[in-house]
Amino acid sequence: MIKSLKDTYTLNNGVKIPGLGLGVWQVDTPQECINAVKAAVKNGYISIDTAKAYDNEEYVGQAIKECDKKREELFITSKLWNADQGYDNTLKAFDATLKRLDMEYLDMYLIHWPVPVADKYVETWKAMEKLNKEGLIRAIGVSNFTKAHLQRLADECEIIPAVNQIEYHPWLIQPALNAYMEENNIKLEAWSPLAHGELLNNEIIGKIAEKYNKSIAQVIIKWDLQNGVITIPKSVKEERIIANADVFDFELSVEDMATINGMNKDYRTGPDPDEFDMDAAK
Ligand code: NDP
Repeated sequence: MIKSLKDTYTLNNGVKIPGLGLGVWQVDTPQECINAVKAAVKNGYISIDTAKAYDNEEYVGQAIKECDKKREELFITSKLWNADQGYDNTLKAFDATLKRLDMEYLDMYLIHWPVPVADKYVETWKAMEKLNKEGLIRAIGVSNFTKAHLQRLADECEIIPAVNQIEYHPWLIQPALNAYMEENNIKLEAWSPLAHGELLNNEIIGKIAEKYNKSIAQVIIKWDLQNGVITIPKSVKEERIIANADVFDFELSVEDMATINGMNKDYRTGPDPDEFDMDAAK
């Protein structure tokens, strides 16, 4: 069980990833991004999740330079955007990501969406394998991949993704995908763990939160960690960044875990991965 911001899960290639990190999607301004990342690191966060599509890799990199942690003490994830899929494009896009972050390597790099209509995720993955073998990325993974997409990588490529970052929260548990990933040792990382904020007024979780004298956000984050899931809640407010990590002094009971596990209604806040092709390289 993850018991601190420093605690890690061990991925299928031996790389250790913190269980709880900060997401930085939809941060309004460069300064807001810099402040959020600095606040997180100052308060003990090790792991930051960005992406080319968030338009803030540069500011994440700048914030980290302004922190008192060494690069190798942190765990930085970024993602390859849809329009950059394809073997050569992936190599170029990765290089550009490193330049924007002003870093020499990434801890984790993910294919952001499978974009099946473009049918390029297999060759894209082969480029990720090359970068991984060259030591430029410590762990390679995917995001928004369904069981079928993961199976195709298993059939046609060499390396099994270390992580699949998917939409996951009490309203979207994805049990079949989750079971496949467990069988194949692919770690689940939850995006929009708070359902993009939509779960923060939920009555069922509110009642549970009262019992522990915790907030709804804290209960959901704890539920992720007790389920063995990596979670990356986003906030730009220092008090919330701190509060979202104040989850190590309580444990949800078996009954409360079961209640939240039972809330699934297959509700997505984001698009269906089989359909989404925004900016796809066709
Ligand atoms: P979250 O589910 O983390 O919710 C974030 C929202 O909740 C924001 O509006 C934030 O507001 C608010 N919030 C956070 N903490 C609290 C709190 N303690 N109390 C009250 N409100 C709170 O949403 P995201 O969609 O941002 O997902 C998290 C991360 O997942 C992203 O930032 C990104 O890194 C990743 N992601 C990946 C995707 C992918 O396709 N791979 C897709 C979507 C997200 P405020 O900032 O004002 O505090």
